[in-house]
Amino acid sequence: MEPIFRHDAYARSCRATVIAAGPEGVTLDRTVFYPTGGGQPGDTGVLRAADGTAWTVVDAVKGSSPDDVRHLLAEGVAPPAPGTEVEAEIDWQRRYRHMRMHTALHLVCAVVDAGITGAQVNAERSRIDLDWPNPDMTKDEITARLAEIVAANRPVRSIWIDDDELDARLELVKSMSVAPPRGFGRVRLLEVDGVDLQACGGTHVAATGEIGAVEIAKIENKGKQNRRLHVVLRD
Ligand SMILES: [Zn+2]
Repeated sequence: MEPIFRHDAYARSCRATVIAAGPEGVTLDRTVFYPTGGGQPGDTGVLRAADGTAWTVVDAVKGSSPDDVRHLLAEGVAPPAPGTEVEAEIDWQRRYRHMRMHTALHLVCAVVDAGITGAQVNAERSRIDLDWPNPDMTKDEITARLAEIVAANRPVRSIWIDDDELDARLELVKSMSVAPPRGFGRVRLLEVDGVDLQACGGTHVAATGEIGAVEIAKIENKGKQNRRLHVVLRD
């Protein structure tokens, strides 16, 4: 299966052929649907056949291998037969917010001097959990630093390295607390130019300016050590 989202996060649709379909979801030979993982929700959208038949995709999840994406349909819906050619299209508005949010969380990692224990991207409100017993920044100070990096419009790019090289540079597996997908022989590093570099399998915008107005809405105490940052996009 060709995961188009991995090299082109901006692809909204693609032509594809149904390989298999059943209760565990629809498998295509290629897809633009990002499957749930790395703290980022799976895409929703639609599969459309040439005769106009459409199947709503309510979620996308990983199957048995790293490159196996299962497109989940609503319960009780009969899936397309194997061999059916479809146009696979994601809900772009939702995905683009995920891309902006996900990239914003990389900036938070760089701005805050604390270990990250968890992160969850959402279209409306994301969160990032920190091992940060004595916060040395307020939410407004973090918001101001984020605004500077957004205004600087830093390029965001992918760098591919071998699994072996990643093993030798474990500092690159860090804050998102989710190991990047392995098993391809190589993994992707996500670089925010001059700001952050870490292994990451999610989808991101091409430059920090696209994140737009982002705000730390709240810093919440979650026990003695842990703080939860709530991240919102202002539009
Ligand atoms: Zn990422």
